Amino acid sequence: MYFSSDFYMFPAYRGRMQYRCLGCGNVYGVDELLYTCPACSNVFILEDTTFDSLQETPGQDWRDLFDARAATKRPELRGIFRYYELMAPILEEGDIVCLGEGITPVVPANAELTALVGQPLAFKHDGQNPSASFKDRGMACAFSVLKHLVRINNWDEVLTICASTGDTSAAAALYAAYVGEPLKSVVLLPQGKVTPQQIAQPLGSGAIVLEIPGVFDDCMKVVEHLAERYRVALLNSKNAWRILGQESYAFEVAQWRDWNMANTAVFVPIGNAGNITAVMAGFLKMHRLGMIEHLPRIVGVQSHHADPVYKYYAQAPEAREYKAVSVQPSVAQAAMIGNPVSFPRVKYFQEQYEKAAGSGSFQVVQVTEQGIIEGMLRANRHGHIVCTQGGECLAGLIEAKARGILEDGELAILDATAHALKFIDFQRMYFEDSFPGDYRIFPRKALQNLPELVIDAARKQALSPEQFTQEAAQAVVERLELRERD
Ligand SMILES: *Cc1c(COP(=O)(O)O)cnc(C)c1O
Ligand SMILES: [Zn+2]
Repeated sequence: MYFSSDFYMFPAYRGRMQYRCLGCGNVYGVDELLYTCPACSNVFILEDTTFDSLQETPGQDWRDLFDARAATKRPELRGIFRYYELMAPILEEGDIVCLGEGITPVVPANAELTALVGQPLAFKHDGQNPSASFKDRGMACAFSVLKHLVRINNWDEVLTICASTGDTSAAAALYAAYVGEPLKSVVLLPQGKVTPQQIAQPLGSGAIVLEIPGVFDDCMKVVEHLAERYRVALLNSKNAWRILGQESYAFEVAQWRDWNMANTAVFVPIGNAGNITAVMAGFLKMHRLGMIEHLPRIVGVQSHHADPVYKYYAQAPEAREYKAVSVQPSVAQAAMIGNPVSFPRVKYFQEQYEKAAGSGSFQVVQVTEQGIIEGMLRANRHGHIVCTQGGECLAGLIEAKARGILEDGELAILDATAHALKFIDFQRMYFEDSFPGDYRIFPRKALQNLPELVIDAARKQALSPEQFTQEAAQAVVERLELRERD
């Protein structure tokens, strides 16, 4: 054991990392940034070729190490790099960028919500990351690696660029602003297809914000064109370092469960499909190191308005054929993607996962727009702060239960991927019944909530300040049917 002397030292272990192409199997060094295979254009996974040497350390020692590091005061080891040896063990201390990402709370549902769903459940609130979504996990890793590359290559200018449904650009712009020179951040957004809160974020961080008409998939094509021909650092999930950082979600879930993942299902919304592969990869790593004995069930969730991964797995295994879909408007806007970049990764990890955890350990369910928005509203009404994609997970849990996918008493951990406030306009549309028809959402009175004016401005004008206070108070008394104190 190399770490027994001091839990809080910067780790001594260094791995040897490489890109491996999921198409042709070619491997490439990591001293430059690669996104897709120069030989066959497929996507990469990142591997540490000395990972197996970590197996010489017993699983219990790894658990103890990561539990001990939870108390560290070193910023570099406080966030996702608490799990340094499993993340990007090529980085030096000075490379690591930490803005307080990760270590987000897991909050069990209260008795009422649990009874409503009929299954034990908890939300992991990844909206409590610095830019208010899980994308910060990936960016912390990608930007740390960028700093490392700038250092070893002496780059004097790096343009970071991403296409985004909103949260990727918010995160990229924030981390770029923090790292500063020689990085410069550019984000490309589909005009009118990100929420006002999400567009405010890269603007506030000082990024160059470019828009094009269309949807995310259109932006992605433009960014790919640029990444192939020009010297830019791509920060979409084609950047495998981002996916690697997002594995920390799985590590934290396991640590919160005291490393016991028996009888547990982890629900993840699927958009570009990077995150669900990160979650699977993370659990598989811990399993290989003996840190966890059981692999949890993984359930991906897609809206019926953007469901290419669901459609693929809904076919009989022999007949499966992947087809991109054209998306319809979705309140789960951050997952409104018809041609997920990471689809080959999903296939790869689903096979690995089912090999290790048995068939049926990976599932994809489909939910309606109505179910998604009501999932968000219901969760928030019971004390959570979930976005529409978190609501999608709750809808997915209800669907999985109805389909008999879950065991009795199986704990569902739902990924609340962003903060509710980023998607608050969808809540407003529900409350005001103002959804455009193509969402196919029909609000129910019981879930609506609007402010009520108890006394108007004209009346205020007519009264003295003291009278106004009295009349306003009286109006509240009547509205709430308050009884006087004895
Ligand atoms: C990006 C994003 C998703 C989708 O994640 P993928 O990795 O693209 O599948 C879901 N929810 C939120 C809030 C996101 O920002
Ligand atoms: Zn290849």
